[in-house]
Amino acid sequence: MHHIVIGAGPAGVTACETLRDLDPSARITLIGDEPEPPYSRMAIPYLLVEQIDESGTYLRRSNDFYARNRIDVMSMPVSSINPADKVISLSTHDTLDYDRLLIATGSTPVQPPISGINLPGVHNCWNLADARAIATRATPGTRVVLIGAGFIGCIILESLHKRGIELTVVEREDRMVPRMMDEAAGGLLKRWCESKDITILTRTGVSGIEQEGAGLSVSLDNGDTLAAGLVITATGVQPNTGFLQGADIDIDQGILVDNYLETSKADIFAAGDVAQGRDHPTGGFVVQAIQPTAVEHGRIAAANMVKARSVVHRGSLNMNILDTHGLISSSFGQWMGVEGGDSAVLLDQDRYLYLNLQFGGDHLVGASSIGYTQHIGVLRGLICSRAPLGAWKQRLLDDPTRLMEAYLGSVQGLA
Ligand SMILES: Cc1cc2nc3c(=O)[nH]c(=O)nc-3n(C[C@H](O)[C@H](O)[C@H](O)COP(=O)(O)OP(=O)(O)OC[C@H]3O[C@@H](n4cnc5c(N)ncnc54)[C@H](O)[C@@H]3O)c2cc1C
Repeated sequence: MHHIVIGAGPAGVTACETLRDLDPSARITLIGDEPEPPYSRMAIPYLLVEQIDESGTYLRRSNDFYARNRIDVMSMPVSSINPADKVISLSTHDTLDYDRLLIATGSTPVQPPISGINLPGVHNCWNLADARAIATRATPGTRVVLIGAGFIGCIILESLHKRGIELTVVEREDRMVPRMMDEAAGGLLKRWCESKDITILTRTGVSGIEQEGAGLSVSLDNGDTLAAGLVITATGVQPNTGFLQGADIDIDQGILVDNYLETSKADIFAAGDVAQGRDHPTGGFVVQAIQPTAVEHGRIAAANMVKARSVVHRGSLNMNILDTHGLISSSFGQWMGVEGGDSAVLLDQDRYLYLNLQFGGDHLVGASSIGYTQHIGVLRGLICSRAPLGAWKQRLLDDPTRLMEAYLGSVQGLA
């Protein structure tokens, strides 16, 4: 049995590890296209603040992990797949036969259509090469413009600011993290950042970037310009599916998979940022593009590659957790609420506290919070369990902070 895994990120590496556990005699090939050993993008912010070195980003720390587990690692882009013949082609035109194939090729940052986006000094913050370039330019006192205040933008914001730079964030939408939190919470986060001397421009677009002397000049759609030594873009990602042209695999926002993470082609599975998998609690199929989902996908896809339809993917919970200068914000599931649902909201502007619970019938279906760190595990547990809240629903509507009691009462049956 030859298992091929394309993509050496968290989904691909977890899958290979699971394949080896479940299929001791199989041949396993892991194919990436980056020069470094498989690493975690999530660790890049820690690299930027020099909390770790590059080796600290590696997904498996011991040098011999892959050899010990008899996983052949190749660094070579896969250029096409032929499902009928069960063959993949590499960019060298070499081919490899597979019995089961996993596509875990992740996503790539979207390049906003802005003139000057390819100038030197304009970077994504997506891979280790980007991190090196940013570390070279983002020296204390440098003016940095960050385009995009979504989840990834806000993660980068934290580490950039810790490097002692002068930071301006430009966000087209009306608030920070618009796909993670509502206006009240986004506004609170913005005020917090401003109190830390970060300039946040919402409802503002970038219309162009030009070279100006040794630096850059960023034109805004309100007519202003910003001088910058470094511009970083974080305006969303798109799944890496280009090489699948001609493979006739069903693709929507990402590669469509069933409840076993198998694609529309037999013996081809997909996992991680590239896959449009089941969402918990909606039951719909979405691209979540977060690492916990990638790892969960990788593990389940691998189990089903070894033994067909052995493990059902019941859905991953979409969740985002941010630490912005010590202010922790989080969002889970259907944080924006559901039609006909109820909600409970608590807002304390002065103490930067916010808690928003969303109910669908008798269940908690989503939540967002700022400043309530002690409730993060409980929120996840309540949403994932889909436990009927019974009398606890009204109690939570009256006082949303009683989450722990509600969890113990409804999920653990202790009250
Ligand atoms: C700065 C930063 C911070 C982040 N922080 C968080 C966080 O705090 N929490 C969180 O949940 N998520 C975070 N993320 C997102 C998280 O990193 C991704 O969701 C995760 O990496 C997805 O894993 P993956 O294995 O699906 O894809 P990836 O990690 O993208 O790995 C896919 C690999 O496949 C390779 N590949 C692509 N095409 C081919 C091909 N044709 N042939 C061979 N190889 C190919 C890619 O180069 C890549 O190495 C962060 C991302 C960034 C950039």
